[in-house]
Amino acid sequence: MAIRNVREIGDPVLNKTAKEVKEITPRVKELIEDMLETMYEYDGVGLAAPQVGILKRIVVIDIGEGPIVLVNPVITLTEGEQCGSEGCLSVPGKAGMVTRPNHVKVEAYDANMEKFELEGTELLARAICHECDHLDGKLYVDLVEGELMDTDQEDFDEE
Ligand code: ZN
Repeated sequence: MAIRNVREIGDPVLNKTAKEVKEITPRVKELIEDMLETMYEYDGVGLAAPQVGILKRIVVIDIGEGPIVLVNPVITLTEGEQCGSEGCLSVPGKAGMVTRPNHVKVEAYDANMEKFELEGTELLARAICHECDHLDGKLYVDLVEGELMDTDQEDFDEE
């Protein structure tokens, strides 16, 4: 396992569409393990493969209830609305208000290529939407209502 370099906004890989995973090879398994380790290292709630420079449809999420791995995720239902603060490991030190569905269902494969369905509300729904957007080359900064804010309190105090 290894911590991977997280690509930051401005890197063209973040605006590309990721490709479906056909099979779980040892390299894909290693990628998933590295993505989890990288997410935990940087205290992220989720991470998508394009954020580590790999254009594969793989997402990892942990909202504090254990790791979730989504391979080839497809959102099948969105319901309701929530507006809240969102950030991204690829946009360090920033956050902004984004409206997302409050309830989503997603179909995906796990790390063993077994199909499953996951349902999420609130933070989990937000994380699923945010990470799936990465697979289509979309960043949350384009959805922010109002201004992107600095989250670095020290910087903020100096201003
Ligand atoms: Zn992100």
